[in-house]
Amino acid sequence: MIGDFMNSIDRRDFLKTTALLGAGTIIGSNFQNIALSQQNQVSSFKPVVIASANGLKTVETAMEMIKNGSDALDAVISGVNIVENDPKDDSVGYGGLPNEEGVVELDSAVMHGPSYRGGSVAALRNIKNPSKVARLVLERTDHVLIVGEGALKFAKAHGFKEENLLTEESREKWLKWKENLSKEDDWLPPHNIDDTDIGEYMKSYSRHYGTIHCSGLDTKGNLSCVTTTSGLAYKIPGRVGDSPIIGAGLYVDNEVGAAGSTGRGEANLLNCSSVMIVEWMRQGKSPEEACLLACKRVNERCREKRLQDEKGRFKHNVKFYAINKRGEFGCASIWGGVRHGKPQFAIHDGESAKILEGVSLFKA
Ligand code: ASP
Repeated sequence: MIGDFMNSIDRRDFLKTTALLGAGTIIGSNFQNIALSQQNQVSSFKPVVIASANGLKTVETAMEMIKNGSDALDAVISGVNIVENDPKDDSVGYGGLPNEEGVVELDSAVMHGPSYRGGSVAALRNIKNPSKVARLVLERTDHVLIVGEGALKFAKAHGFKEENLLTEESREKWLKWKENLSKEDDWLPPHNIDDTDIGEYMKSYSRHYGTIHCSGLDTKGNLSCVTTTSGLAYKIPGRVGDSPIIGAGLYVDNEVGAAGSTGRGEANLLNCSSVMIVEWMRQGKSPEEACLLACKRVNERCREKRLQDEKGRFKHNVKFYAINKRGEFGCASIWGGVRHGKPQFAIHDGESAKILEGVSLFKA
């Protein structure tokens, strides 16, 4: 741990800093002292960018920008724009899978560590880059979250062009769902926590989630993050997931770290996991440990039998990604293995971009 931190600062600065603060305070992972050292002594941090596994190009682009002096927020937004614009990624932006009426609705949020500001949009239609609109909410309004029709009007006021986001491929997938699988929707009759034979979709694992989260630490030691998604495929129109909710789908504290999520947003909305992960890191947990704690919390707090397997385990997946101020990173998911895929994530550690495997609470 101390080795990583040493790599992130100039050794002469480190000696000055430790003389100022006492070496024990740094070695004892005191984030406040690191922030103080940043203000007073340290001019260069070792940058790092993490993203969900669909973000290899995202971390490459963001790191290139950071190395050229960009602020982490500019870098992570430019990174996820690549995936928003990619018609082949059917979980984000253009080409995202639509709601149950065949209309693409996008959610996104951004958070800027040094200014401690955030912006988000939800259920935004016809605009390819919701992360750019979320950023404008941060920069050009006194609000944090704008939804639906209002978000579209706001985007158009800022010159965004409306376009059809439904690609032929996504339309065909939606039509197949509508024609063959429409029992797998999100409408439920009145139910209680002991009901099991309810909600066809809860019995299978075929519903489609997907999102990109990206967090970055720039060379000035500033953290920022973004999450952007078309959300749960075939959702009830107007459904909002965790991605645009600050504290749930992403969170940053510039003194500590940044975190974000992908997967079943409803579970994460009930647990506000991203802010929890950042707080656990503040208490000294590594990014991976903090992500795993968030998985445990989602699993332990679920009381609804329809969401649990025969062993009482939460049966859907949520995945978390985190970095801290030292440039350490981690990822954990509730499930790893064949059914839900490996807990992979994309990382650029300043040296190279790669896909790595995190840890999971359960395997199936
Ligand atoms: N978390 C997103 C949502 O619930 C979807 C996902 O990440 O797959 O909208």
